[in-house]
Amino acid sequence: MNYLNKKTIEDIDVRGKKVLVRCDFNVPLADGVIADDKRIRESIPTIRYLAEHDAAVILCSHLGRPKDEESKKACTLAPVAVRLSELMGRPVQFVPDVIGPQAQAAAKALKPGEILVIENVRFFKEETANDPAFAKALASLADIYVNDAFGTAHRAHASTAGVADYLPAVCGYLIQKEITIMGNALANPKRPFVAILGGAKVSDKIGVITNLLDKVDTLIIGGAMAYTFFKATGKHVGSSRYEEDKVELAGEILKKAKEKGVNFLLPHDNIAADAFSADANVRVFHHEDIEDGWMGLDIGPATQKLFADAIKGAGTVVWNGPMGVSEMAPFASGTIAVAKAIAESGAVSIIGGGDSAAAIERLGFADKMTHISTGGGASLEFLEGKILPGIACLNDK
Ligand code: ADP
Ligand code: MG
Repeated sequence: MNYLNKKTIEDIDVRGKKVLVRCDFNVPLADGVIADDKRIRESIPTIRYLAEHDAAVILCSHLGRPKDEESKKACTLAPVAVRLSELMGRPVQFVPDVIGPQAQAAAKALKPGEILVIENVRFFKEETANDPAFAKALASLADIYVNDAFGTAHRAHASTAGVADYLPAVCGYLIQKEITIMGNALANPKRPFVAILGGAKVSDKIGVITNLLDKVDTLIIGGAMAYTFFKATGKHVGSSRYEEDKVELAGEILKKAKEKGVNFLLPHDNIAADAFSADANVRVFHHEDIEDGWMGLDIGPATQKLFADAIKGAGTVVWNGPMGVSEMAPFASGTIAVAKAIAESGAVSIIGGGDSAAAIERLGFADKMTHISTGGGASLEFLEGKILPGIACLNDK
């Protein structure tokens, strides 16, 4: 799927128009207070552009998982409107309604340059059901639809896709950035193209592995995922985490990689522990086999060097999945070594996946990467080459 040709807010005349923007305001809350306003801050360039170009800007989003009336109270977007107003230094209106008469009236009265936040779209089950009547009612608030919520772009919901059936539809700056950087990396990568995959499960990443096998020069596997591949080559994994029902598939992937001439790198040594705990006893196995009673929780020192060397000359690096249990300090060194190698490589570097992005931030390498995708699930589906309904629905140039 090629999204490089999608229209953006700069390709459409927004002057004097009502513009409905699907934002990602799904911020973490602690006792009703916004614990991290990163997503609100990141949404501002698109909102500012629209307001400064005399659009009347109507913002919608989901927040949390509202079910009953009680949980709805905790998932209102009211505090988001307040924070957005503080951050932008201009008034932001809020209406506790989504498609009803109150929202309709507030949208109608909204003047060019003004900003309105409507209530959480997931207060209606029609949102996630992508109900056409609900999507149409939402669309009736505006003249133009802008999607800027990459994190939900892999979902066909009313506010992420359905609404585009009724309005001209373009992307905002956040989605534009995601599709330009990831789209270019997949379509015209600067070579050598190195993909690094790790994390918990082969089963989570099969789609990504299969799609990338056709594109990359080198494929590096770390994390628990490696042990399923070890099994496929007859190695002993001790108590390491692996997936018995994916061993055969791992063997097929190894075969395919060979046929395609992909340089396929697995760990040569392992850092193992006698329990899944930061204060477990630790032992390095200087080979692929791990003894019973020990579980591999990180790649070993020789592997760290092997992987770093493979990354050194890369033109493009796509990374998804930590090399070990990087949330525990004794098992973070593999992930750190790989992050360091990427930072020093000068390659275009793209990080996808929720835990990977969190690890990179926590370990202090975030500003060294070209792009850290904001959407965990969405970025994985992008790397799998899947159709993302929230982007596919937007108009082509
Ligand atoms: P992402 O969210 O970036 O796609 P994953 O969810 O696939 O990444 O993987 C992250 C998880 O994998 C982390 O919780 C980490 O602890 C776990 N993990 C990585 N290596 C191992 C290992 N050797 N054994 C057990 N768990 C591991
Ligand atoms: Mg994860």
